[in-house]
Amino acid sequence: MDVQEFREFGKAAVDYIADYFETIRDRPVLSSVKPGYLGELLPKEAPQTGESWQDVLQDVDRIIMPGLTHWQSPRFHAYYPTANSFPSVIGEMLSAGFGCVGLSWIASPAYTELEVVMMNWLGKLLNLPEEFLNCSEGPGGGIIQGSASEVTFIGLLAAKEKKVKDLMEANPALKETDIRGKLVAYSSDQSNSSVEKAGLLGSVPMKLLPANESGQLTAETLLEAIRQDKEQGLIPCYLVTSLGTTPTCAFDDLLELGPLCNREGIWLHVDAAYAGTAFVCPEYRYLMKGVELADSFNFNPHKWMLVNFDCSAMWVKNAKYLVEAFNVQRIYLKDNHNGLAPEYRHWQISLGRRFRALKLWFVLKIYGVEGIQKHVRGQIRLAKQFECLVLQDGRFEVCTSSMGLVTFRLKGDNDLTERLLEKLDQRKRIFVIAGHFGGKLVIRFAICSRLTNGDDVDLSWAEIKSQADGIVPMADL
Ligand code: PLP
Repeated sequence: MDVQEFREFGKAAVDYIADYFETIRDRPVLSSVKPGYLGELLPKEAPQTGESWQDVLQDVDRIIMPGLTHWQSPRFHAYYPTANSFPSVIGEMLSAGFGCVGLSWIASPAYTELEVVMMNWLGKLLNLPEEFLNCSEGPGGGIIQGSASEVTFIGLLAAKEKKVKDLMEANPALKETDIRGKLVAYSSDQSNSSVEKAGLLGSVPMKLLPANESGQLTAETLLEAIRQDKEQGLIPCYLVTSLGTTPTCAFDDLLELGPLCNREGIWLHVDAAYAGTAFVCPEYRYLMKGVELADSFNFNPHKWMLVNFDCSAMWVKNAKYLVEAFNVQRIYLKDNHNGLAPEYRHWQISLGRRFRALKLWFVLKIYGVEGIQKHVRGQIRLAKQFECLVLQDGRFEVCTSSMGLVTFRLKGDNDLTERLLEKLDQRKRIFVIAGHFGGKLVIRFAICSRLTNGDDVDLSWAEIKSQADGIVPMADL
């Protein structure tokens, strides 16, 4: 493909995406294809000779589009938002076009330097304590990782190495293998699946402690777990707290848990994957009180901050612990920037790095702080609108409501809610998923797409109501 064809293909692809957004509201959110559908539509072997870009784009429309779940549809209410915006899409495109891999400063100075500045901008936007920022005097700093899962895992590895080192320094007679075999980590049973996975990957038992009725881990529960584990000779090293749990968007209390972790030498990690974006608005910052007690903090601009997947912001109070855990040198990685910029490859799992800071920059520059605040406040308002609609219908109960997430159910047996979920799934007009709250089955309704407006919320509710009519008619009230 030559440059002229690239121009034509690129412009046609941008038009295709623009058309997609103009028609997305009219598409069923869920796909109707069956497993294996694609294998039947594609040849069994790669083509011997190249085809035209027009053919490729036609294939996308014919073969790929029917198999998409429309995450950006205004009536996609499952999981949490996975952000998307035009500035971010263009950022991705330019990054692919530049085709650099920022494995060191010299490998592409703009990669590292823009990331440093963006992480400072972002940290200040959330009002994170200065010591987490690259621009502070101290050893703290921020980096963009691929996902919150990766960040939780990286935090665990750093916490593990720190604990082993600290104990061996304090008592040189200790054997490293003995320490490693006794490490334990904690989180609550409301934390994301990725937290349990981090424990599995890092070979550290991740104990999921029972949260209270509000979905929070209490200091009392943590203290008791630590006491029991220490009694058995185990060594607590890592706690993952959640600011905005996946099931109900509950917030752990850092002011309660932080002092305990600091006293016990437990690395305190804060997972604010979804709700962290809300801290751009000063009125929600009370929910992150105590963040200064944390060792690491993470949120996903790729969830609620209009930056396309992947972009997960991680800050640590002392980057030395990452570098000590992950530093592997080779002659081919030698870089002569004299330590004036972070060597981000030592802060992450892979060697290569994408230019994620570019799309983040575009979003911050084009939306501005006010644009992002407006987005967050608007989505929380829409969730409130939905909550009010549910509350007006006596067949339903609202179980929780926090930020852009409402959980609700049909009163009575779980079976009723289960049937409602099945019907909604079959019709494919909206997409919601199940959850559990207080031992009951609930429906999670999240405001996800940046396109969702008040009319969409009304339509989604009308769909839920109409399907509920077949299960619990209004007259049965
Ligand atoms: N943490 C929380 C609280 C989440 O809600 C999620 C995903 O929804 C994750 C972590 C995982 O995020 P990622 O896909 O970036 O790994």
